[in-house]
Amino acid sequence: MDNLEFTEDEIQRYARHITLPQVGGLGQRKLMNAKVLVIGAGGLGSPLLLYLAAAGVGNIGIIDDDKVELSNLQRQIIHKTNKIGSHKTDSAKETILSINPNINIMTYKERFSIFNAENIISQYDIVADGSDNFGTRFLANDTCFLTKKTLVSAAILRFEGQISTYSAYKDLNCCYRCLWPKPPPKGLIASCGEAGVFGALAGAIGSIQAIEVLKEVLGIGKSLNNFLLIFDTLSSEMRKVKIKKDNNCQLCGSKPTITSIKKHKDYS
Ligand SMILES: [Zn+2]
Repeated sequence: MDNLEFTEDEIQRYARHITLPQVGGLGQRKLMNAKVLVIGAGGLGSPLLLYLAAAGVGNIGIIDDDKVELSNLQRQIIHKTNKIGSHKTDSAKETILSINPNINIMTYKERFSIFNAENIISQYDIVADGSDNFGTRFLANDTCFLTKKTLVSAAILRFEGQISTYSAYKDLNCCYRCLWPKPPPKGLIASCGEAGVFGALAGAIGSIQAIEVLKEVLGIGKSLNNFLLIFDTLSSEMRKVKIKKDNNCQLCGSKPTITSIKKHKDYS
């Protein structure tokens, strides 16, 4: 049985959560015991990390090998101007601890790759992917499936964002590959650097990603498993599209061909 005793500081800090019947003291304790890995401390990772930390998620891992650049600051609100040139993991950690000093932050100043994916992910309960490239998205999906972790994956480009939750290791849920069997040919889909991205969109989708991670930890509401949420900022429309498990999926189908994380062209 978890210890439900909170300090006076914790009761005040988390009062608005504890008041919610769906969260309460038990839920707040779940958040404080949770271990969440965030891939990428960029546009999506910024609001995601800030809200997870503010909510009191007790153990947060951040993996990113980039340094803060001036062109990041239009949307990556966890980083400050005086952090240009610093590692994003260090900059993010400093901001997080200034908001909530009572949580454990693990930083990995390395690229998420086949060499560290399983080892790092296995130390967490839930993974939130806010990376900006297909290689990382496929690697996160495959590793989460094989290590039986829930993945909340999001992407943004120009004025549109998408987000879904993948727990394909249980309940016949679909995985990212059921939707996208393989990455698009290189150069077909522009990156944010090439095509641009509306800064506040990162705030909206990253915040939804935080909401879905918190719901998964708390076990409340309806998960985004088997649905893709698409937000188009220009038309102010949000659509929730049903997605189906692909029985021929290379990863989670009935005859999988991807059974371990090893060198694979989809991860590059
Ligand atoms: Zn699949």
